[in-house]
Amino acid sequence: MNVENKVVIVTGGSRGIGRAIVEDLASAGSHVLFTYRSSAELASQVAESTGATAVLADVTDEAACQDIIAQAEALGGLDGVVNNAGITRDGLMLRMPDADWDAVLRTNLDGTFRMCRAAASVMLRQRRGSIVNLTSISGIRGNAGQANYAASKAAVSAMSRSLAKELAKRSIRVNCVAPGFIDTDMVRSMDPRMVDGIKKAIPMRRIGRPEEIAAVVRFLLSDAASFITGQELVVDGGLSV
Ligand code: NAD
Repeated sequence: MNVENKVVIVTGGSRGIGRAIVEDLASAGSHVLFTYRSSAELASQVAESTGATAVLADVTDEAACQDIIAQAEALGGLDGVVNNAGITRDGLMLRMPDADWDAVLRTNLDGTFRMCRAAASVMLRQRRGSIVNLTSISGIRGNAGQANYAASKAAVSAMSRSLAKELAKRSIRVNCVAPGFIDTDMVRSMDPRMVDGIKKAIPMRRIGRPEEIAAVVRFLLSDAASFITGQELVVDGGLSV
């Protein structure tokens, strides 16, 4: 799981799972650049405590994606990209406004695609690299009230398998990590009664911790996973079994 001196970009690194990934990689000796969208104060706290570099960038903005990739390349190459930035706009289909459908697809799917494309142009020249995309068990099993989110994550998963096949010849790996329910703002914003019900349904009887996702992401970025590509690793305490 050695990631020392690797240059890695993490999108959405100022809080939640992204923050845990930044902290984990930085403490393991990677040079980490992470994006944030609005919370400059949180981002500078993370940068200060980890030594990582915070970059203001919206993943739906193609120029911003290319810019951060160029910044990473200038550090001596781009070893890894973790597409973690994601949003939810939950609601039942009949009441779901187009704007909520579009926003979720634009961030989760289009944003991940744009970052992958920008990263691949550098990684293809280098003939190395590892891309890890955050998906969700919602994209595998579906979830009432999350048609937009589940569709976006299932699409990221299918896209990742296709990119894995496109890029494998040049030793570039593309994998996904599909968390179950993890203790972040995304889950804290849910109805507590719903969260209690979810805990009962999880064989391990608890919500996961962001560090438990970060460890799997580090594994996939490291050379320990050098023959793994096109996979989606589920980290959910057994919920989807
Ligand atoms: P979170 O809401 O706490 O953090 C998401 C991060 O993404 C934030 O830093 C936010 O600023 C950033 N972001 C959102 N839109 C962006 C954009 N357009 N450009 C740049 N950054 C943007 O969420 P989280 O719970 O930490 O989730 C992280 C990832 O894991 C997401 O992709 C999410 O779908 C996935 N996931 C989370 C859970 C969970 O239980 N928390 C479960 C399954 C999957």
